Amino acid sequence: MKRPLLLALFGLAYLAAGAPPRGAGQSGKAIICLTYDDGLPSHLGTVLPQLQAAGLKATFFLNGIAGASTALGEASPAVVGWTTAAANGHELANHTLFHACPEELGWQKAYAIESYTVERMVQEVKAQNNLLALLDPARKIRSFAYPCNNLLIGTVDYGALLMQQGLVRYGRAGGDRLSVVTDLARINPMQMPSWMVEQGTTLAELVAFAEKAKKAGGVGIYQFHGVGAEFFTVSTETHQAFLAYLKQHANDYRVLTFSEAMEAIARK
Ligand SMILES: [Zn+2]
Repeated sequence: MKRPLLLALFGLAYLAAGAPPRGAGQSGKAIICLTYDDGLPSHLGTVLPQLQAAGLKATFFLNGIAGASTALGEASPAVVGWTTAAANGHELANHTLFHACPEELGWQKAYAIESYTVERMVQEVKAQNNLLALLDPARKIRSFAYPCNNLLIGTVDYGALLMQQGLVRYGRAGGDRLSVVTDLARINPMQMPSWMVEQGTTLAELVAFAEKAKKAGGVGIYQFHGVGAEFFTVSTETHQAFLAYLKQHANDYRVLTFSEAMEAIARK
């Protein structure tokens, strides 16, 4: 896949947080959200144990659930892992069922977003909500993340429709390392910008984004994919060190799940 194009398109949903900071510093701490997309094996094998050791909670945007084990009599490792994650206070959130993206990102035509109707997407989001409810029955309100940070089906802003239908309450969009939320009075709760963390991002770069949020008294939302594996990968060591940084600077940051962050913003 053409990586520069891919990155550019993932960044399409970048929303400039233009106005001067307002009120964000009132709580005295910036809000940091750690979000992880696509239900990857490294989330279960690496990220969740690291978060657990650090005592931090995060949001995982899942599309489908891998449903089988290779060992007879054994439950699906993904089902066990995600159920345990939810029981431990992590947020399981909706990333559609089949993760349709624009054809130009390399998706086959039949599965690309261009072949979708809004109704088809609504059915997928409902189906994914049902899957999530089986893993995480206690949570009644779901957040949503747009596959490939693509906000549109044709010309329709389908996230707004998902919210109006009561399927999801908050939405995470894309963005880049400038996408710190600084003006909490002027947010679109269905299009919260995040930094789609790029392949090989360093600890210093991860810290710099958090420091931007701190300086603005705002919100920094990280959109991670693979950790030590898969794609858009940051190394296991870098991820571990960043969690340690957040713990060491607990006076500066509140690390919240995406829904918790949105609720905290609404209370301001
Ligand atoms: Zn995704």
